[in-house]
This record gives sequence, C-alpha cells and structure tokens, in this order.
Amino acid sequence: MGKPTGFKEIPRELPQDRPPLERIGDWDEFHLHMPEQKLKDQGARCMDCGIPFCHTGTLLAGMALGCPINNLIPEWNDLVYRGLWREALERLHKTNNFPEFTGRICPAPCEGSCVLGINEPPVTIKSIECAIVDRGFEEGWIVPEPPAKRTGKKVAVVGSGPAGLACAAQLNRAGHLVTVFERADRIGGLLMYGIPNPHLDKKIVERRVDLMAQEGVKFVTNTEVGKDYPADRLLKEFDAAVLCGGATKPRDLQVEGRTLKGIMFAVEFLTANTRTLLDGKENGKFVSAQGKDVLVIGGGDTGTDCVATSMRHKCRSLVQLEILPQPPLERAPDNPWPQWPKVYRLDYGQEEAKVVFGNDPRQYLCTVKKFVGDEKGFVREAHLIKIEWQKDEKGRFTPKEVPGSEKVIPTQLALLAMGFLGPEDTVLGQLGVERDERSNAKAEYGKYATSVKGVFAAGDMRRGQSLVVWAINEGRGCARSMDEYLMGSTNLP
Ligand SMILES: Cc1cc2nc3c(=O)[nH]c(=O)nc-3n(C[C@H](O)[C@H](O)[C@H](O)COP(=O)(O)OP(=O)(O)OC[C@H]3O[C@@H](n4cnc5c(N)ncnc54)[C@H](O)[C@@H]3O)c2cc1C
Ligand code: SF4
Repeated sequence: MGKPTGFKEIPRELPQDRPPLERIGDWDEFHLHMPEQKLKDQGARCMDCGIPFCHTGTLLAGMALGCPINNLIPEWNDLVYRGLWREALERLHKTNNFPEFTGRICPAPCEGSCVLGINEPPVTIKSIECAIVDRGFEEGWIVPEPPAKRTGKKVAVVGSGPAGLACAAQLNRAGHLVTVFERADRIGGLLMYGIPNPHLDKKIVERRVDLMAQEGVKFVTNTEVGKDYPADRLLKEFDAAVLCGGATKPRDLQVEGRTLKGIMFAVEFLTANTRTLLDGKENGKFVSAQGKDVLVIGGGDTGTDCVATSMRHKCRSLVQLEILPQPPLERAPDNPWPQWPKVYRLDYGQEEAKVVFGNDPRQYLCTVKKFVGDEKGFVREAHLIKIEWQKDEKGRFTPKEVPGSEKVIPTQLALLAMGFLGPEDTVLGQLGVERDERSNAKAEYGKYATSVKGVFAAGDMRRGQSLVVWAINEGRGCARSMDEYLMGSTNLP
C-alpha cells in the first residue's frame, strides 16, 4: 500500500468521457484517459485490504462479488501509485488475457465490492486497468510470446468471442496447436459484431487477434462448424475441441404486427452497422435509423448499444422500454455491499439521448401490445401498455397489463433487445452434446467437459447470456481442464 492515508485525502475521480454532442457525430471511442499523476492519485486510494473483496470473484446469493477472473487489483493499484507501470502490466496479464477489453466494457463488479465502497466512493479500478494495458501497448511492452515448445496436440475452438479467444490463448501458451473456427467474416464474436465501435474500437480487438496469430493461433473465418465444416470432422482431425458458440438465439416478442418491416433483432442491427463501418460501404442487412422514430425494446447493454447507434444515425426520436421498475438511486436494503449495486445509472447511450432530446429515453414498467403498419407493410406505430408485477397462484411474479394505460407512439424502426434464450442447435445437435434445462451445453462449471468425450464447452454457450469477463473466466478455466485432459496434468493458471 503506497499511501496509507490516500483514501482519506483523495476523492474518487473518473476520466472524463468525450462530451455527448461531440461523440454522437462520429464512431470513435468515447473514453479518454487521465493524466498520469491523477491515475497515480486514484491508485493511492486503494487500502490494500487484508481481505480484498474487489478480487474475490465468488458468488453470494447468486450474485458475483468482485472480479470473476480474480485480477490482482490491490497489487497493480499500488504499482501504479509507485509509477511501476510495466510491473503493473505483468500483474494484470497474469489473470486477464484481454484487459484492454474489460478495461473498456466491463460493468466492473470489482468496484461494486470494493471495501472503500462501504462508506466512500470505491476505487476507480476499471479506468486504472485500462490505463495500464493501453500504456503497455503504447510503450511496446506487449509483444507476441509464442510457446517455447509444442506438444504436438491439436485443438479446435469453435467460436471466436472472448471465451473462445481466452481458451485459445491459454491452450496455445501450453504449446498445443490451436485452430479457431468462426462463421463470421471477422474474429471476435460479440466483441467485434455486438458491442459498437464507440464502446470498444474494433482496432483494439484486431490488435489482440493479430498478436495471437503471431503467437501461432490459426484463425479460420467464414466457416460455420456444423454447416461448412461437419462437426464430426472435429473429432477426427483434432485431439480435443471446445464449443464457444455463444448464446445467440434472441428472445422474440410475440405480439400482433411483429412481422412488419422495420422490426428487427438488435444484434442484426448492430452487426450490420459495424460491418458497414468496417467495410466502408453499406453492408449486411444495414438499416439506418436516420430521421426515424426509433423504439428500443429492452433496457440492458444491448438496448443501450442500440440507443447509441441510433443517436449516431441521427434518429428523429427515441423511446426505450424496460419491463422492470426503475432501480433506486441508492442501494436497496436487500442489496447490501459487497453485492453488485442494482441502482439507477445513465449509461452512455441514454446520456446521449438525454442531451439531444431532453430526457432519459427509458420508460419503465412498459411493453409493446401491438405494432400497426402502413399499406406497404412497414411498421408505422407501436401501441405501448404499462404493466405491473403481480404474484400468480404459484407465488411467481408475472407482468399484468394496467387497464387503460395504452399509448400510441410513431415508430418506423423497432429494435428487439430482450435478451437471449440460449445457444443455437447446429453444432451441439450434430455432436449429440447433452443440454441443461435452459438448453445450454451441459458441462460442469470448473470442468467444462460435455457428455461427448474430448468435447468441452465454455462461455455463453455453457452458462447462458453473461458478460465478457465471465467468458474470459470460462475460457481460461476450460483451457486448464483441456490441457489436463490432453497431457494428464496442467500448469496453466
Ligand atoms: C449487444 C451486446 C452488448 C454487450 N455488451 C456487453 C458489455 O458492455 N460488457 C460485457 O461484459 N458484456 C456485454 N455483452 C455480453 C458479452 O458480449 C457476452 O457475454 C460475451 O461476448 C460472450 O462471449 P462468448 O465467447 O461466450 O460468445 P460470443 O461473443 O457470442 O461469440 C460466439 C461466437 O461463436 C460464433 N459461432 C457460433 N456458432 C458457430 C459455429 N457453429 N461455427 C463457427 N462459429 C460459430 C459466433 O459467430 C460468435 O462469433 C453484450 C452482449 C451483446 C449482445
Ligand atoms: S477492496 Fe478496494 S480498497 Fe480494498 S484492495 Fe480492493 S480496490 Fe483496494
């Protein structure tokens, strides 16, 4: 602990984001870094706790406490305070293959569990993490590190999201020959084609993928296992395979008018937008929100990204629906520290909409009753209805419409961002992998072995829709398990 009184003297300070009106004019990232002295001061606020809840990553009442990949947070906070950036980077890479992703887009459960957060604003862990790794790249400290020797074992990774990438990086480090199959034209999964460029610049994803390729990982794009490449070939050509195909089946909205043109799934909209940006021409199923009244259905990260993208397209108006009530401004009594604080936040997309339209676009406890189209089959209006949560006869909370609360809003583009139901069937079905009750690939957490010998599963495909940091956790854990399966023992962290 560099400065024992740091937490008493120095207030929490976050780096400024680019102003909303400026950033909606382009597709660049909105994060800015702080000057070095300010970062050191923020590092000095860390108390180097005897029990650092920030890095525990355990579950309490079903919620994660602290960092799921057990980042050595107090160590690198102290190293940053002392100006030892390279040493901080080494500590950071010990537990996290991709801090440049989590430092940008992680919701930071570490900060929700920081001990300082009991009675003061927590340490700014996430922005310190991002500054360490960005500095590492700037200084040229991050270079390809191919393994010293190869084991001769061949491993296939299906899917190149953060779970597949973390697993591939670790297996390659152990000396196995790794081939990553990806059906999209670019590597990265939702890091590439889900999360928009302003939140995570695609050059940052490509930079890490290039490093991995230089370390010896082979990437095969435009190849869907189960379609372009028969799934059973995996078992013949590789010693083991891991399925990291994500939870890509979106939840649909079964209401009248759903099939009208202009109503689409959020990830289709976001993917086509990023592809158009990267290809430099309208591509995929590109749909512009320009001049349209946009309705985003769903209040999570995906919904926020749709709001931000529509703002950059210059939509005419924007409404975002959330079926749950508005969270409280402060932690509720049943959501104490060190749990993740379920409180009201203005995320980047909503902040932008508020600056342009004058209010937070979210409407809580509200859903769509039906869509109405024009004579050409395009959506023209959405009929909204308020709901309230009531207990049914089995004691479960279910949404009930509030009579007389219907409201009609003009809508020419409706984006469905209501979460995901689970993985697609193709590869799991072809390999005959057993599924759990939620349709995910069945494999015990920590072991990752499926019902098919030599086939493992990790990330959203195993745990259901989650977070990038959990995908990295699972990818790393799965690599450990696969290395042990292949070699009889493992030294992977
Ligand atoms: C729009 C959006 C925004 C999000 N924002 C955040 C955020 O800000 N912070 C955060 O922590 N989390 C966020 N998440 C969640 C996070 O992105 C996911 O939890 C994470 O990417 C899951 O990683 P994964 O590797 O398991 O799967 P994915 O990232 O989904 O990657 C799976 C990959 O497998 C490929 N694939 C599937 N089947 C096959 C096959 N048969 N053959 C070849 N390839 C295949 C897919 O094309 C895809 O590229 C967001 C999710 C969405 C949808
Ligand atoms: S819990 Fe907070 S104050 Fe304690 S070690 Fe972690 S970051 Fe530092």
